[in-house]
Amino acid sequence: MITLDDRLMALRGLAAEFATAIRPFGLELDGDPSAIHRRLDVPLVLKLGALQVPPAYQTEPLVVGRYRFHLMTTLERVVFMMEAARGDLGFLLAAPGAPMAGAAVAMLGDEHQQEWFFSRVVSEPTWAFFALSEPRGGSDASGMRTRLTRDPDTDEFRLDGTKRYIGNGTRAQVGVAFAKRGRGGPLSATAVLVNAGDPGFSAVPVPTLGLRGAQLSELTFDSVPIAPERVLGSHMPATRGGLWGWLRTFNLLRPVVAAMGVGVAQAAHDYVAEHRPGLPAPLRDGLERLRLEIQSVRRLTLRAAAEADLDPSKGELSSAAKVRAAALAEEATRYAARCFGPGGLLDHPYLEKLLRDARGIEFMEGAGAIQRMSVFSAVPRP
Ligand SMILES: Cc1cc2nc3c(=O)[nH]c(=O)nc-3n(C[C@H](O)[C@H](O)[C@H](O)COP(=O)(O)OP(=O)(O)OC[C@H]3O[C@@H](n4cnc5c(N)ncnc54)[C@H](O)[C@@H]3O)c2cc1C
Repeated sequence: MITLDDRLMALRGLAAEFATAIRPFGLELDGDPSAIHRRLDVPLVLKLGALQVPPAYQTEPLVVGRYRFHLMTTLERVVFMMEAARGDLGFLLAAPGAPMAGAAVAMLGDEHQQEWFFSRVVSEPTWAFFALSEPRGGSDASGMRTRLTRDPDTDEFRLDGTKRYIGNGTRAQVGVAFAKRGRGGPLSATAVLVNAGDPGFSAVPVPTLGLRGAQLSELTFDSVPIAPERVLGSHMPATRGGLWGWLRTFNLLRPVVAAMGVGVAQAAHDYVAEHRPGLPAPLRDGLERLRLEIQSVRRLTLRAAAEADLDPSKGELSSAAKVRAAALAEEATRYAARCFGPGGLLDHPYLEKLLRDARGIEFMEGAGAIQRMSVFSAVPRP
């Protein structure tokens, strides 16, 4: 079992304060995702947006008491996210920062690419997209259709394709897009840095039921010019720059999505405990079971995070945590709704929002069936 030391407990305490600060704005962002631009003055929002950046590019870490954080390890990110998501997950996903794209750049970028990307993130409030999913499917990255082709006249590359359900797509100034080269074999998977202002790039919002703050978007790349120095992983052996690097990046990110599920489940539990103190016995027992289940998934998620930091090539525990946390968030929010009886969702719009938000977690970072396959592929065969 992973126990949090004083350092991580200090981080958790700060995340709890942040959760309280952002909670009042969750419903506002749900109604109008652009409201995030009016909320950049909420304490810590800009500071956090400039973190999750390697120490070489971020000289001003987050200081909590005598501890300093860059939020570069999965365990730190998970500890922070679990607590902060109790406040409002939509707000967290709307806030500036480059948690996903930054992880890809840290994994696959050379020194110049990292400098280009991270110096931007620390110098101004930056949103960055991470564009993998496509209209025909997100879980199966190998079926991707977006293409990167080299222009024989200029030596530049061109990016063509459509991505859908991309968080912060319309807000982003920069991003990482995933594509295939040539005939599209397993070694052809490539990630590139994209400037959202480049010709041929466009982004439109996609309406969603929950997590509206994330402003999911459809991105179109219509022959977007990509300079050779924007192709990530070029400095690595062919077997490392593509899928190998991607899988490791996803294994590092997935426990953070699990932490989101734990946070949302905890928020639903807290809401019932606060607003329905005199629950009848059967519902009260159910709430207690839910509390224990949250504890259990919390432990699994922390373990998955610690394991991902130790060995990012192992994804099964991350997948197991993600499957359980997504299911838990749905179960907890549905249970909370039951505790308020018929009409409860009308009287409690925050709970109604939590219910919608919880559903989104199932689809982030690959849907449940895919995660289960990852778990079972690690079971030794007789
Ligand atoms: C809030 C939110 C934020 C997101 N942010 C981003 C982002 O920033 N960048 C990004 O690239 N994407 C993002 N996504 C998209 C997300 O990654 C995809 O929704 C996810 O990968 C699932 O893809 P899909 O919706 O196309 O469903 P599909 O992959 O088509 O899956 C649909 C169903 O089919 C099942 N299925 C699919 N393939 C198989 C198979 N081989 N075997 C068995 N069952 C299968 C799945 O389990 C699922 O139940 C986001 C999604 C959400 C909800």
